[in-house]
Amino acid sequence: MTLYKIKKSNIDNKGRGLYAAKNIKAGTKIINYKGKIVTNKEVDESDKYDNGKPIYLFTLNKRYTLDGDFSWNTAGLINHSCNPNSEYDGKGLKIWIMAMKDIKKGEEITADYGFSFDKDYKQFPCKCRSKNCCGYIVREESRWRISKKFSMSNKKRLINNSL
Ligand SMILES: [Zn+2]
Repeated sequence: MTLYKIKKSNIDNKGRGLYAAKNIKAGTKIINYKGKIVTNKEVDESDKYDNGKPIYLFTLNKRYTLDGDFSWNTAGLINHSCNPNSEYDGKGLKIWIMAMKDIKKGEEITADYGFSFDKDYKQFPCKCRSKNCCGYIVREESRWRISKKFSMSNKKRLINNSL
């Protein structure tokens, strides 16, 4: 029995997401993240991999990247959350979505997309509505930089208001 079903997402209001079809225990492999294996060199050199594409790219090792941007990759429907309940787990050239905590039937399955911070982060706003949401799809270790930016721009606003 599959552990998930596809439904309209609460996070991505234009798109779909995956939902737990039954209670899932932490540590369970939920679904295989499928894609085409391409070389890192191809990713660096081809325009095809610019812009919206990084969402679906996983660097597997020094040589290869998995490109999951295909309609047959059901796991590609999983939405990012700043407070995810599952994570990407890889071995060799395979990637799984694994539950990080117990997930209740009916909950949306979410994962941290793990983007590193760069100047283009504003391209990917996050609507996960978690308490700790930083507003953009950036991996946990990099989020402090955005919070810092937020507080800096708030400070500026306060100064402007007081003038
Ligand atoms: Zn978020």
